[in-house]
Amino acid sequence: MTDATRILRGERECQYCGLFQHVAPLQPGESACCGRCGATLRHGTKDTLARALPCAVGALFLYVLALQLPFLDVTAIGHTYRADLFTGPNELDQGGMWGISAVVVVTLIAMPAVQLFLLVAVLLGLRAKRPPSGLPFLFGLVERIRPWSMIEVFLLGVFVAYSRLQVIAEVQVGPALYALGGMMLCLIAADVELDHEAVWEALEERGLLHVREPPETHRRIGCDTCRLVLLAPSGWPCPRCGRRLRQRKRQSLVRSWALLAAATSLYLPANFLPIITVIRFGQGEPSTIWRGVVELAQANMWPLAILVFLASLTVPLIKLTGLTFMLLMTHEGSPLWLRPRTMLYRAVDTVGRWSMIDVFMLTVLVALVHMGFVATVHPGPGAVAFASVVVLTMLASASFDPRLMWDAALRHGHVAAVAPPPAAPAPQAS
Ligand SMILES: [Zn+2]
Ligand SMILES: [Zn+2]
Repeated sequence: MTDATRILRGERECQYCGLFQHVAPLQPGESACCGRCGATLRHGTKDTLARALPCAVGALFLYVLALQLPFLDVTAIGHTYRADLFTGPNELDQGGMWGISAVVVVTLIAMPAVQLFLLVAVLLGLRAKRPPSGLPFLFGLVERIRPWSMIEVFLLGVFVAYSRLQVIAEVQVGPALYALGGMMLCLIAADVELDHEAVWEALEERGLLHVREPPETHRRIGCDTCRLVLLAPSGWPCPRCGRRLRQRKRQSLVRSWALLAAATSLYLPANFLPIITVIRFGQGEPSTIWRGVVELAQANMWPLAILVFLASLTVPLIKLTGLTFMLLMTHEGSPLWLRPRTMLYRAVDTVGRWSMIDVFMLTVLVALVHMGFVATVHPGPGAVAFASVVVLTMLASASFDPRLMWDAALRHGHVAAVAPPPAAPAPQAS
């Protein structure tokens, strides 16, 4: 058996329930879904690399512009205060909130910049006569840092901050905000156009495989990074992206419990301690997240009040209770609601990052409101607890391996009765 025959072409492991399935070639616009849990396995696209490249280049160009230009101007009593993307993190750092400053720098500046730069490098590198051998490693990084790039969440945070600032002073939108809006559209277009599997296939076709003969084995294993399915032992380096192959995420339950416990212990401080103090004309008092929601509602900004209520109060609570429920059911080996539980996990994993709206709103307000007697804004201790809850719940949901829920039910002999897998064609080796 050669290395090539151990790669099972067209096979996919569902990353949510662990079922191996054969995915036939797809037409543009078609999607293949898991027959057991309903998760999308792959989208059909056309000319994906050629179409995604201009979107990624456009996003990178607009992002570089956004980093150079001012994004909001605030005018009060004849003075104009201007902020760029670095002003908020700087002010937070100088105010002793270096932890929040670091989170904002990572999610707003470092991760988007690295993600875009690497994506453009990979797509351009694939067009080279001799593509650099490090491209699979770089694209593996793109896959891993994607959830931590939060431009769209920041834009919503700016919108909430803008609505609050308008009450205090005259606010003008700067060119960086338009650039970020354009960048977000380019990123969405790139996401729609880019078939990640096609990039991996192209990297493989260009001879960038890390060929290394695995020992004789007949156990199927799927790569968590590039989704390749092959016959190899756990711990073996993936021949396509180089990452170590694992049947399941390592120490998944222990790590998830630890992160969840830390997040739960900070949930009450995050909600009961003040996250912000706005002092206007010498008066003001510390305000909690809930107080912020009430103030938005009292100012008749109902859509924003509902948005902040959902993102800052409801989503963290659903994540904490949902993950606790999933972990307990996994320990029980329960076959109940396996499919809804898997859908809940997908939802929790997707929406968790939107809780960062309040952190970004705080960053913008702190950056702009230093108007002496007119108004000042100070972050409160609740902000540190809240940002920690958001980051810890994101890490907890990333650590949890939803396939363990199906494994546990399978060990108790339940999965076939609950959700019979589709008639899977024999794995095709080529
Ligand atoms: Zn599935
Ligand atoms: Zn891989």
